[in-house]
Amino acid sequence: MSTFIRDAHVITMDPISGSTPLVRSIRIADGVIVAIGEHLKPDPHDEIIEGRDRLVAPGFVNAHTHSWEMFYKGRYDNLPLEMWMAMSYPILGDSRVAPDLVRLRTTLFGIESLKAGVTTLVDDVLETPGQDHEQLAAVFDAYEQLGVRANISGHVINRPFLDTVPFAEEYLPDDVVREIRSAHVPSTEEYLRFAREAFAAHHGRANGRLRFMVAPSAPQRCEPALLTGATEMALEFAAECHIHVLETKTQLVTGDESYGGSLVSYMASIGALSPNTTLAHGIWLTDADMQTVAAAGTSISHNPISNLKLGSGIAAWRKLQNAGVNLGLGTDGCSSSDSPRMLDVVKTAALLHKVTEPDIDQWPTVAEVLAAATIGGARSAVLDDVVGSLEVGKQADLVIYDLETMAFTPRQKLDLQLVYSENGSSIDIVMVQGRVVVAGGEVITVDERAARAELAERLDEIIERQDRLDERNQAVMPGLARMYERATSTPGAVNRFSGDERAWLV
Ligand SMILES: [Zn+2]
Repeated sequence: MSTFIRDAHVITMDPISGSTPLVRSIRIADGVIVAIGEHLKPDPHDEIIEGRDRLVAPGFVNAHTHSWEMFYKGRYDNLPLEMWMAMSYPILGDSRVAPDLVRLRTTLFGIESLKAGVTTLVDDVLETPGQDHEQLAAVFDAYEQLGVRANISGHVINRPFLDTVPFAEEYLPDDVVREIRSAHVPSTEEYLRFAREAFAAHHGRANGRLRFMVAPSAPQRCEPALLTGATEMALEFAAECHIHVLETKTQLVTGDESYGGSLVSYMASIGALSPNTTLAHGIWLTDADMQTVAAAGTSISHNPISNLKLGSGIAAWRKLQNAGVNLGLGTDGCSSSDSPRMLDVVKTAALLHKVTEPDIDQWPTVAEVLAAATIGGARSAVLDDVVGSLEVGKQADLVIYDLETMAFTPRQKLDLQLVYSENGSSIDIVMVQGRVVVAGGEVITVDERAARAELAERLDEIIERQDRLDERNQAVMPGLARMYERATSTPGAVNRFSGDERAWLV
């Protein structure tokens, strides 16, 4: 099967033209870009897509998200990460989500992502109280049917909650402490065995489109042997190792309280940073941490909307760029950002850092944010040889935008309009591996209406469960609120809050 896109406006994100729109034709055969240039002719059997009023760009790589949170969209506000986690990832009284519901949840999340122009998902799937093979298989099955590309974890927490957050035990009632301490956490051996089985079962499924990744939750949430074991296993399978690092001030204080300093230097000291590793968030890093991350070839997924909503702080975009850290962009899950629309994230990344300093030369450029949303994300996902730019030999994962829309009216600089004007409503066609998965803005690989109808039938059951767990976990909230207040008032090595004038905190 072959396709010919004729004379479109094309943003290739290749090393030479970057995000500059050029008029080009693209020929795709067997899922791969076989030619891209100015004066190409179609082959007789090519299916022709006229490109005259269209913009073609690489599909977005959502470098950090959690499909698990799909059912939590629009549920919480004004909670900092540690308190929000107690709701979204209940500490007390949780029970297993059935695989059919996992599949439905994943399908709905994948539909919304594809319609938003996301062709690659880095989906860090956290099941509570723990993930099993049936649940993991349901995620793979859903994405196989949808036709999206994905790295799918494998998320694990293997230290007791109370050892991962500073001061919390002091502030929680004794019976709650006892209950949390009695909760099962998987051993390092159990997780590494699970991961090896998952690699064997799923890695490279769907013609290489679907890959397993290891995902230790965070350095403070896992045993050192698990961190190093996961890092080594990712390298063995040429896969991603995905981990949350220094998302909040509380985590900075956790490093000081429990690891004698920075969590990044702790990871480096035990060999838990590698070129296949992506740190989600990476906000509260020192300059030295940034050098360490860059030297290890480790990537960071920047997730500005989630960071804004949870009040986590503002990542040091320019300092990270200057240090040479590869950056991707992510939405994070639908409980902390309420949407998998990468275009929202792209626009926020382009805007947010302009108010952090007056020197205009330091502000993010459209070229930089589009690179982070495509090729940078692909690099972080260990997929930069495969996707992230439109180049001969790469897989045809791309989005075709209709330019006859208000977002592109009047037509000025299409790269700037993609970042600042477009919200996804101009998306016409989405291809993954050369296969059309979205046409006319609608997903054609699964029945969205049927999936939403199935959800409607089960919504009462889902919300009753969430309400029950929220109520149960209210028991930890006052204690976590006191912990949060104390941690955010503790002096630390850097300040990433905007407008926090308590200079003594640094
Ligand atoms: Zn996350």
